[in-house]
Amino acid sequence: MQGGKIQWSESIVAAGDPVLRLPAAPVGPELLGTPELRELIDAMVLAMRNAPGVGLAGPQLGVPLRVIVLEDTSERMSHLSAEEKAERARSDVPLTAIVNPVLELLVEKDERPEIFFEGCLSVPGYTALTPRAHRVRCTGVTPEGEPLELTASGWPARILQHECDHLEGTLYVDRMISRSLCTSEAARTRWSGKSLQEVAEGLQLQRR
Ligand code: ZN
Repeated sequence: MQGGKIQWSESIVAAGDPVLRLPAAPVGPELLGTPELRELIDAMVLAMRNAPGVGLAGPQLGVPLRVIVLEDTSERMSHLSAEEKAERARSDVPLTAIVNPVLELLVEKDERPEIFFEGCLSVPGYTALTPRAHRVRCTGVTPEGEPLELTASGWPARILQHECDHLEGTLYVDRMISRSLCTSEAARTRWSGKSLQEVAEGLQLQRR
């Protein structure tokens, strides 16, 4: 930001840029409902759709502000089989922009995390198994400043955890099972449709 104006990158910022490693600042009340914030969010939505991806956080356009957008559509999931969609609990997420999101993990006692391949537009070309909570609650405000609360489970909960992590300077590579790191190509050709057990055996995940 310069002279009070929000400036953003035309392209998605890649890992290695410090903006992806610093906690983002809350959006102040003076920005809520302004065309400026709306324009930033429009730019984020455009970048997410062009990538294409299912979520984007402010720091990914070089803006250290607590704003996330998410959207998952049937079209985006068209490469997945019905079983894969069901297994990942992947369901449509309408376009949602959340300002100053606060995430609460709704984890039952003894509940184990869900483990699936996850990737990031700021770490292009790679994917890795990443444990996430099955269910979350997210509160925040809309870009207009209206209170917003939603609970999500399965894939949408994973997207929310991934995007909110960005606001803390955390990337999925900080949480991934590091031995499962694959190029996107290898993940697609070798492990698509395979069980977690098969991936674990194939990549010897139990070894250090
Ligand atoms: Zn990301």
